[in-house]
Amino acid sequence: MLLDDILGHERVREGLKSAAASDTVHHAMLFSGPEGVGKGAVARAFAALAACPNPSASGDACGTCRSCERILSHRPGEETRHPDVLWLSPQSSAVIKIAQVRDLLGIIPYPPLEARVRTVVIEPADTMNVEAANALLKTLEEPPSSTRFILITSRPDALLSTIRSRCQAIHFGRLADEEVERGLRAAGVGPEQARRGAALADGSLGVALERIDDPVLARGDEILGRCVAVRPGDATAALQLAADLADPKDQVPQVLEVLLRFYRDALLLSVDASERVRLTHPHLVDTLLKTVVERLGTEALLYRLALITDTQRAMTSRNIPGVLSLERLLVALLAPPGREGATAIRDR
Ligand SMILES: [Zn+2]
Repeated sequence: MLLDDILGHERVREGLKSAAASDTVHHAMLFSGPEGVGKGAVARAFAALAACPNPSASGDACGTCRSCERILSHRPGEETRHPDVLWLSPQSSAVIKIAQVRDLLGIIPYPPLEARVRTVVIEPADTMNVEAANALLKTLEEPPSSTRFILITSRPDALLSTIRSRCQAIHFGRLADEEVERGLRAAGVGPEQARRGAALADGSLGVALERIDDPVLARGDEILGRCVAVRPGDATAALQLAADLADPKDQVPQVLEVLLRFYRDALLLSVDASERVRLTHPHLVDTLLKTVVERLGTEALLYRLALITDTQRAMTSRNIPGVLSLERLLVALLAPPGREGATAIRDR
């Protein structure tokens, strides 16, 4: 994929193109931002632009020459097929070792073989162990003019500050839901599934692609139907449902995500009944969502959203087991309105 074809990150892409056109590319860049938003794709496309002998009128690589083909066909975890694009990632272990950095530093003093500049991508840069990072440091301080570094990380704080300070920071934000949806459609996902997958991916196409076959998401409507069918205040039914939904227990986080989006939809509708655009479940407006909005009203919905996010936080930060979390949540969530105080489940 070329810079012009990549989803989102327009400011970053245009900035890189204009730096390339004016020959003011920084010798070391740190691409940081959430997983799965396209940092690697941008690095690959920028490496292609650096090596392409026939850039397009828009200032991007041509995408069709032999150089572009070899660089753009690179897949994460592989070596590139172009001698002037070096992609350093952890090999057998989870870390990038000093031996890998030493091999790299043995190549760098020599001029590139085909392109004008050599691109070295280190991904994820935070997997360099301290020795490896320190070995790289000297080169980042005084880089040869023919080599440019792109360090990629979703955890910039895990890098040595001395490494960070030598790089130009380039931040990648989350993608808009519409952009993730477009990416899913381009990957062959059907329209309805793409819309829902995007709404649950938190701005990451990578996460969306991982989750698209998730059984919980595929059963989202059924799960919500069962929740709404519980008679308000029927704690026994709520507990039984929690037990069903918590099996297997590793799916509890996705169940919470489905519930969160559904109650958020209900809240939006309770404030503005004509709202459709921002909903995750517009197809449920006249059925499940209508029932819940009529049953609860804005204030009770706000309270329920807070309960869900509290539960999510408690599960991750305090390691409260999924089954227990879901039982407490569903009893409170499916209680009649007006009992908010009595069913408070926040544990302090
Ligand atoms: Zn080209």
